[in-house]
Amino acid sequence: MKRRKEINDRKKMHSRRNRRKLLGGLLLLVLLGTAGYVFRDQLAGGSKPLEVANSVEDQNLEQENREEGVEPKEPEVEGSVASPEEGPLDREESVPDTRDLTLLKPGTNHSLGASAYAYSTEMVRNWIWGGVSYEGENLAFLTFDDGPVKKSEAVLEVLKRRGVPATFFIPGYVLAEHPDEQVLQRYIEEGHAIAVHSYSHVYDTLYPGKVADKEKIVEEFIETRDLMRASLGDDFDTGVFRFPGGSMSWKGIDEARSALAEIGVYDMDWNAISGDGEPRSRRPEGPQAMAEHVMFTLSEHWMQDIAVVLMHDTKDITAEYLDQVIDQFESAGYTFGILE
Ligand SMILES: [Zn+2]
Repeated sequence: MKRRKEINDRKKMHSRRNRRKLLGGLLLLVLLGTAGYVFRDQLAGGSKPLEVANSVEDQNLEQENREEGVEPKEPEVEGSVASPEEGPLDREESVPDTRDLTLLKPGTNHSLGASAYAYSTEMVRNWIWGGVSYEGENLAFLTFDDGPVKKSEAVLEVLKRRGVPATFFIPGYVLAEHPDEQVLQRYIEEGHAIAVHSYSHVYDTLYPGKVADKEKIVEEFIETRDLMRASLGDDFDTGVFRFPGGSMSWKGIDEARSALAEIGVYDMDWNAISGDGEPRSRRPEGPQAMAEHVMFTLSEHWMQDIAVVLMHDTKDITAEYLDQVIDQFESAGYTFGILE
């Protein structure tokens, strides 16, 4: 939208300049015409000068063009009336701004525009779990795991309507099973961030005997990132990971973490949950209870200035409670960020 406004503003500026030039041209023509008119008048007199009539027609055409959004044609007299300082400068000014903020920022997992609210995963982890003090404004990171599937679209629609960004943790197998190049592109264009949630999402493969297999975890990370690059191009990169089941559920996580850090990858757990992925016995009942569960679990955590909220965009109910989650954070004065 912003981009379209920029283009329109530029077009307006351009046609304003053209109108100025046209006016200058008109003035010259009127002067010349008047001179001719006076001269002719002395001989015969009567008719309106042809040049002036043409110029009025040009003006009407220009008006029509403007209404249709077409660049007005340069008046033929431009060269003779343009002031010298308008020459080369004018050309430079009319080069359109090609920086599209919805485009992928090379080497990252988000768009150029999303840089304004993208936070280093390593820093966020240190603020929440690493004992590094945090002095900034309250931040909320909405995170969605296990998609994208068909029902993820409903979640995307809510985020778009509310203008709120999120981070999506994607297992590679989902991308392989439902190849949909558009959806990853949409995450980028709509200001979200893309992260890896292993390839297989199979606990026994990633943590045999409940112990993290660091080689397997790194291998699956790379495999998934490569799949993402196949959709988004080699400029795409992500250093954001989430252990399926969460890092707290397994042994050998320190070794896996070191192996990931060697390739510039940092994992992120959560400190608030909606409970949409909990077993039935522990699952809050209904959308309102799930939204409230987010604030309840956050209130139980030692860190409340930064919230990393675990949700799943593979559940029907997520799009139903998401508005309320956003409302709660907004009214508590939180700003939404993404993880890079
Ligand atoms: Zn998961």
